[in-house]
Formats: sequence, C-alpha cells, structure tokens
Amino acid sequence: MTQSPETWLISAGRSRAPGDPLNVPPVFASNFNLPTDRLYSRTDGTETTDALELLIGGLEDARALAFGSGMAAAAVVLHRLPVGAHLAVPEDPYHGVAGILEEGEAQGRWTVHRLDQADTQAWIDAALNVDLLWLESPENPLITVADLPTICAAPRKAGCLVAVDSTFATPLNQRPLDYGADVVMHSSTKFIGGHSDLLSGVVLTRNDELYEEFAHRRLLYGASIGGMEAFLTIRGARTMALRVERAQANALELAQRLESHPAISRVLYPGLPSHPTHQVAKSFMTGFGAMMSFEVAGSGDRATDVCNRAELIFHATSLGGIESTMERRASIPGQERIPPTLIRFSVGCENVDDIWADLQQALAGSAS
Ligand SMILES: *Cc1c(COP(=O)(O)O)cnc(C)c1O
Repeated sequence: MTQSPETWLISAGRSRAPGDPLNVPPVFASNFNLPTDRLYSRTDGTETTDALELLIGGLEDARALAFGSGMAAAAVVLHRLPVGAHLAVPEDPYHGVAGILEEGEAQGRWTVHRLDQADTQAWIDAALNVDLLWLESPENPLITVADLPTICAAPRKAGCLVAVDSTFATPLNQRPLDYGADVVMHSSTKFIGGHSDLLSGVVLTRNDELYEEFAHRRLLYGASIGGMEAFLTIRGARTMALRVERAQANALELAQRLESHPAISRVLYPGLPSHPTHQVAKSFMTGFGAMMSFEVAGSGDRATDVCNRAELIFHATSLGGIESTMERRASIPGQERIPPTLIRFSVGCENVDDIWADLQQALAGSAS
C-alpha cells in the first residue's frame, strides 16, 4: 500500500475500466463455466471476495484471507497446531477462542499457558518454550494492551509463531506484522464492517507458506465468506477511517468525563493515563480505539440497570458498530471472572454530548 490507509480504504478493490461499476458487485456463485481458473467459490473465491482481500490486505501490507466469521478465521489459525503443542494465550481471550482452547485441552491435544497480557516478561519467557503465542490486543474486557513490539521481537523456540487478534485495534491503530508477528486476525464483524449487519473475519500474513496453509484449511472447513457478506464488509470498510477517528475521539472524551463521575468507581481505557497499559499503548499504537470498560459503584444489578435504562446507547453484546453499545460482561455465561459491576462500552459515532447525556440519565436513574 503506497497510499495512506484512509485513501486506500476508499480507492482500493475497485475497477477503473470504462463501463464497469465503481463497486465490485456481490457475486452470488458457487460454480463457474469451464474452462476457467476459478472453479468453485469455496476453493477459489469470487471477484467480490478478491476485492475484499485486496482491500484489507493492503492495510497491513499482507495477503488476506476472508472468512465467514471471526471465529472461522481464529479456528483455522489455531487448528494448525499439532497434538502435543504448547500455546501461550491471554487470561481472558475472546470467549469463542477460549472455547476452542478448552476443547483442545480436554481432548489432551494441547497444553495451554494462560498469561497476564500486561506481564511482558512472561510472554518473552514463553516464546522460548511454546509453539504459538496467541495475543489479543487490546484484550476483552479490561482493554489491556500487550507490548507487541517487544513480544514479537523476542527470541523464540524454532517454529514458534506469533498470532495477534487485533480486532479491537483495527488495522488503523496497530500493524502487528510490522513488529514481527506472523499472523493477524480480525473479526471484521466489528469495526471493519462497522454496521452490526454481518459476520465476517480476516486472516493476514506476509508468509506465503502460511497463506497457502490457511487457504487450504479454509476450503477444508468450508469457512468461506458469502457474496453478500463480502460486499457489505467492503462497503462498511470504505468509511472505517472516518468512523474510527470519530469513535475514538468520543471514547477519550467520555472516558475522561466518566472518570470524574461520582457513580463510577473505575474506568478502563488505554487512552487514560490511569490505565495500567497506557504507556505501552502510547509507545506504539496510533490510536487508542473506541473500546472501554467502566465499573459502576454498587452492585452488579445496578450495572444491569444502567444498561437497561440507556435510551440512545443500545444494550447489546457486540461491538465496533457505528452505534454505541454496552453490556454487563459478567452476565455472559463463562465470564464470571469479570468484575460484576463492569460494563463494556463500544463507543459509536453519535454526537458525544448526546451519548454523555444518555449515560448521565441512566446512571442517575439506576438504583445503587
Ligand atoms: C467478535 C470477536 C471475535 C469473533 O468474531 P465473530 O465475527 O463474532 O466470529 C474474535 N475476537 C474478538 C476480539 C472479537 O471481538
């Protein structure tokens, strides 16, 4: 990518040929007339998936593979690990990823080492002993940022790969491959798609062998993306730079205001100097993102009450949409380790004062 990312997002993956539409249309096809190099869309993709992969790949100067969901992308990366493999993962990875890891452990396939993502030395030490470092940065839901430049550059056991779930950062706020990571994964359901209207996922690598291997596993698992989802992901991604810029500016402003609100006991946003990984985030990220968590003073029931009282902010689980959403994370089965009063907040692109007014009324009305 020679253009700046915000220009690339608007200009790449389009035709300039006279008479062609500016946008690659959604191609709805499994089968193609022979003779052709593109036989079947599960193995060879379509024009629409090619355009999506070019668009997202260029953002990280990598080859991209598009998937039907973020979990399909994650599964294809994790399932390359052979029986007997050791992996280092964060303490609270995305719950779907945690589920794959638990299954692998229960079957006796893998040994999983769960590390505090803020403990950089633990990751440096693990790199000498494990077959995969799987990082998720910023991490769900304490928004912990891993020191990616240091961890990716650490000496590793032969064959050890570093993979980063970079969903919360987007390709705009960090490029882990630049630091030496081998694989980056995004749930493009979130900020890349940006409109809460699709599921999709992306895997990026600069290693041709890994690319071929993941492409092969994608066709074996049938983890391909459909034509409509690929089209909508591109359409959403065209405005990602605008959305992320606005949403993260809103997030910083709201984090600062929440920090001095009497009904709030803690705000977790990497852009705040009070965040445990603020210095690390500042050292290499180009933006702090639009994800934060905060704890309300009082009980878990109060946190649920706040979510229910919001009138503008949606009480919904997912994130990265143009609209603000929030959710009490401990209410999710399997997330009982999360503080009961913690609300995860995906800040959207609405006017910041309107979001603030909604938070204020929801907090004021809630029973403490
Ligand atoms: C949503 C999410 C996933 C899973 O992606 P899906 O598109 O829902 O399958 C993985 N990692 C993170 C950090 C996510 O937020």
